[in-house]
Amino acid sequence: MAQSKTPSPIEFEPPYPGYVFSHQHLLGIADLSPHDITHLLDRAHEAVSVSRQVEKKKVTLRGRTQINLFFESSTRTQSSFELAGKRLGADVMNMSVGSSSVKKGETLIDTAMTLNAMQPDLLVVRHHSAGAAELLAQKVGCSVINAGDGAHEHPTQALLDALTIRRHLGSVERQTVAICGDILHSRVARSNIILLNALGARVRVIAPSTLLPSGIERLGVEVFNRMEDGLPGCDVVMMLRLQRERMEGALIPSVREYFHYFGLDAKKLKMANPNALVMHPGPMNRGVEISSEVADGAQSVIQVQVEMGVALRMAVIETLIETSDRLSQKRSHRSAV
Ligand code: ASP
Repeated sequence: MAQSKTPSPIEFEPPYPGYVFSHQHLLGIADLSPHDITHLLDRAHEAVSVSRQVEKKKVTLRGRTQINLFFESSTRTQSSFELAGKRLGADVMNMSVGSSSVKKGETLIDTAMTLNAMQPDLLVVRHHSAGAAELLAQKVGCSVINAGDGAHEHPTQALLDALTIRRHLGSVERQTVAICGDILHSRVARSNIILLNALGARVRVIAPSTLLPSGIERLGVEVFNRMEDGLPGCDVVMMLRLQRERMEGALIPSVREYFHYFGLDAKKLKMANPNALVMHPGPMNRGVEISSEVADGAQSVIQVQVEMGVALRMAVIETLIETSDRLSQKRSHRSAV
């Protein structure tokens, strides 16, 4: 499998002269410049080696508090944020929404204000409503990371995907990337389309028309309704889960038929470029959007994505806390003069 390969060391561009990262929150890829994205990817690349050491713990965030507030279930993202915070030395608390006051009817804002009063340095939020993380960022006094808001954005997923592509293919620029499946309900697709375009990739989406948002072309993608048409010439094939929890009514005739036309199996993968990377953000539905043969095959980098997720989140957390410290120093300096 591709994940057992040791990625070759890649020389990255030196930091841009005079560039300073200036965001206190990470709410969406749409807020980031190409320089911001490259800066985070460069830092994440460094963090991969920390995660591969026997002793993985840094002390840069010792004494800092990170709260993970997940209103939707999550395996990879939540555990990855938890590990990332802990590897940086922060105290990490997972708010279990199922057993908290949210169940008793407390609003998102009340919950956030309660947590804010505990003086965290970072709030990582996942919520079923688009814009939830942004709303919280306006209310609380610490940095906020959007870990997925409805079908809107999932910025750390797109960043870890770009890191995976960059480490395997050398760069994101000029790669042809096909994002396939349930684009309509996917925040992963949206964040990836914005990021890949910002870094100069060619982006295609392949899906039945019932699973495509109207006007998707405006985001800068080529649209295909058949895998046979969209896969030839692709360097990366990114598969998405059918998000049935977000579907109202039947948008596909049957799972069997969906797999036949849109599921990635070995035969369809051969239509893409030789050695094209196979990606999936997880959780996977084997036999629905991807066959086991392909998911576990030589071209799959799905497990590498999980590894990159921890490094990327370490880089994001460290960068936001540093920025927030710098901005608050500036503010207190200004009020002292
Ligand atoms: N884990 C991703 C997300 O939270 C993709 C998915 O759920 O299918 O959006």
